[in-house]
Amino acid sequence: MTALLVKNPAQIVTPRPGSLRGPELADLSVRSGRSIYVIDGVIQDIAPFEDLQNRAESDNAIVIDATGKAVVPGFIDAHSHVVFGGNRADEFALRTAGASYEEIATKGGGIANTVRATREASKAELKSIAMDRLNRALRQGTTTMEVKSGYGLDTATELKMLEVVAELNDEHPIDLIPTFLGAHSVPKGMDKADYITEVKAMIPQAAEIAKFCDVFCEQGYFTPAESLDIVGHAREHGMLPRLHANQFHSIGCIEAAVEMGATSVDHLEVLDAKEIALLAATDIGCVMLPGVSLFLDIPFAPGREIIDQGCLPVLASDFNPGSNMSLSLQMVMSLACMRMGMSVNESLACVTQNAAHALRLEKVGCLEPDWQADMIILDSPDYRDVAYFYGENHAYAVIKKGQLV
Ligand SMILES: [Zn+2]
Repeated sequence: MTALLVKNPAQIVTPRPGSLRGPELADLSVRSGRSIYVIDGVIQDIAPFEDLQNRAESDNAIVIDATGKAVVPGFIDAHSHVVFGGNRADEFALRTAGASYEEIATKGGGIANTVRATREASKAELKSIAMDRLNRALRQGTTTMEVKSGYGLDTATELKMLEVVAELNDEHPIDLIPTFLGAHSVPKGMDKADYITEVKAMIPQAAEIAKFCDVFCEQGYFTPAESLDIVGHAREHGMLPRLHANQFHSIGCIEAAVEMGATSVDHLEVLDAKEIALLAATDIGCVMLPGVSLFLDIPFAPGREIIDQGCLPVLASDFNPGSNMSLSLQMVMSLACMRMGMSVNESLACVTQNAAHALRLEKVGCLEPDWQADMIILDSPDYRDVAYFYGENHAYAVIKKGQLV
């Protein structure tokens, strides 16, 4: 048995359990004068220190003094592309110096660049690069993370990426949730119908590892009908559907997501009132990715409307080499507050409890007895500093399943 006592934090802050909508999102529980007692990775009790002291002594508990520090649930990143080869800093430098997308593409840039590097990298190389990124995410408080394939665009590399995710999940403290995104793009020089046939042929093997099947539903990528075809096949093999939808155009992906019973729709930078109303009537997670809007200088998803109309909002990083090279969910919270009309409390609920819901995870994203002890001890007595004092890493210590990591 391993026991842990987080002693006397200034605040214990958590969203309420359950999938949260409307006013529930801002209704956080903020407790002071309490300590958190954990046994074998599960929260046993949240009570005054005096009530826990004797138990902690007889259980030989590790004691972390959290005086003057707030504690929040470990962050859950519901959308990322952490596994990929190469580095596109060159391209970023070109773009910031004024080069157009076309110029960058002719120089071999863009997604084709990452696909080439990911195909060329060995499994060990991909793992070691991704391990470094996971360490960075963990240091910033992320304790659970969804990770997609999608930079292979051929059977061998797509499966290699998923195997890397599975192995990293065993070796790294962050819990990783694998998603198959074979339909991220059509590989250069290949006919789309042929590639869709290949993606469908990957599905039985991909389903042995991946929990979700995702499709980039977008003009110039995959249509709603093609998305339905692919995820329909994935469903038969036990994967849950989700979509990259409405990043640049509204082409019927939301209707398709409702039809397929998607667990989430991700991006939503271009979303009209009719689509918001459709989503509000479902339990589809609306995953918003403000880091992408900042990085690409495109509109932000309408977070305020999504909340006010009763949808299930989620915030995630979309960490990826082309459109958001940041793992920081603390920055995501700040952007949601500063650019999307969301409150600090709402933004916290969206990277914890509602993110767990979008990933269909139980007993994470909340600090209550009987829940998994994933938590961040902040360097501040006030949890609101995470969004307010921005561009800083406020994680003083990170605890995953009751272990200091
Ligand atoms: Zn993405």
